[in-house]
Amino acid sequence: MQLARAAAALAALCIAAAGVAPLLAAEPAHAPSKKISPALSSVDTLVTAAHVLTMDGTDRVFSPGAVAIKNGAIVAVGTPAGLSALYSPKKKISRPRSVVLPGLVNTHTHAAMNLLRGIADDLPLMDWLTKFIFPAEAKNVSPAFVRAGTLLACAEMVRGGTTTFADMYYYESDVASAVDQCGMRAVLGETWLDFPVPDHKDLAESIAVTRAFLEKWKGHPRVIAAVAPHAPFTNSKESLVAAHDLALEFKAPLLIHLSETRDEQRQLAEKYGSTPTNWLESIGFLGPNVLVAHCVWCDADDLRLLAERHVGLSHNPESNMKLASGVAPVVAARRVGIAVGLGTDGAASNNDLDMWEAMDFAGKLAKVSTMDPTALPAKDLLRMATIEGARAMKMDDRIGSLEAGKRADLVAVDLGRAGTTPVWDLYSTLVYAVKESDVSLTMVEGKVLFDGKRVTTLDEAKVLKDAREWRKRIAASLATPAAPAAK
Ligand SMILES: [Zn+2]
Repeated sequence: MQLARAAAALAALCIAAAGVAPLLAAEPAHAPSKKISPALSSVDTLVTAAHVLTMDGTDRVFSPGAVAIKNGAIVAVGTPAGLSALYSPKKKISRPRSVVLPGLVNTHTHAAMNLLRGIADDLPLMDWLTKFIFPAEAKNVSPAFVRAGTLLACAEMVRGGTTTFADMYYYESDVASAVDQCGMRAVLGETWLDFPVPDHKDLAESIAVTRAFLEKWKGHPRVIAAVAPHAPFTNSKESLVAAHDLALEFKAPLLIHLSETRDEQRQLAEKYGSTPTNWLESIGFLGPNVLVAHCVWCDADDLRLLAERHVGLSHNPESNMKLASGVAPVVAARRVGIAVGLGTDGAASNNDLDMWEAMDFAGKLAKVSTMDPTALPAKDLLRMATIEGARAMKMDDRIGSLEAGKRADLVAVDLGRAGTTPVWDLYSTLVYAVKESDVSLTMVEGKVLFDGKRVTTLDEAKVLKDAREWRKRIAASLATPAAPAAK
């Protein structure tokens, strides 16, 4: 019995290490007539599907495929027959028309801003910000606002197959509570600005509030607390250095917007005689724990510097297009070795958190801007939305691919719709044809958050009702004579 168990365990390890081949040896397809029934290892869940696309180092694909899960971690990936011969699952999840792949990683959001989705569109960035977003935020952002907006964002993301996201906003401890309730994974950065924000009014308060936030969520299995100075043009040197030092003390990530607009380049050139990237380098800010969003105006020297410092980059094609910020040089960034993930930015500048669209737009934007249809092929785009996004966030040891030992964050996508039929190439179908509504399963840490019909961890009807109530409240607040937006 012990030997049989050891053999099964060894076979499972082989599956993880070497792909499909060892399975053939493990499958008793032509078993001799004497009955051999090796003891099966118990696992929590066995997910089977038409395909399992691992996004691992050798891009293994199993068709059909299966994933065995125990204690929130992936135990083995292989064929259904192979894994059924080794494991006895307490629960089976079958998606015979679907492809299973790693959960999508959204590397840049402002989740609570979902409540401001569509409040104003088609405006220059500064008009949009100063006439609508800032006044609406000044009058409404509170723990309750943040909680309602984040739950709405979580429902949207889980339905769309996103399992991990990076966030920059206020009251991030309330964001963390909402994320915890929903069951997603996130890196949550408390945002600092040089002017008062809803939950802290000056640098000393920013440090104190963020320190308490970092301490409170230390060691949580799915929530990573982070520090998020807004941008080099909105944060002083003192504020940036303090954020850097606090992140260093807690070994926490540092999230920041960088080179989003041409105006930011101009401001930094006038103020410091430097590019924003060079300025951050000169004050010792850049390092492996830094994740920068946008980099639309980064030049070749900036990119080399970011690569040298192992900084991760979040590319937000839809937000950059909608606000006419420009086209980020992502092909060049990846060429110099920067890990580039995809992000949606906040729903207020997109106007959704759909990572399938982010992949599609990123690809087409790269092609048309370089006049090269081979730029960012489908497989690279899916990488950016999974393993490379995880690498940009320094989480690729835990998530981003389906491999034994990683956390069981995965999604299934139904390929049975007219718009996704036939399938010639899985990567092409996923990136260019699949829609958010094709997601048929979302799982984080082995727990089902979306079963293809409902978000299992949230009362969605209440989440939507609350969001509609907030819309009324925000509109009423902006109609008050004192509100800047009313002028
Ligand atoms: Zn942003």
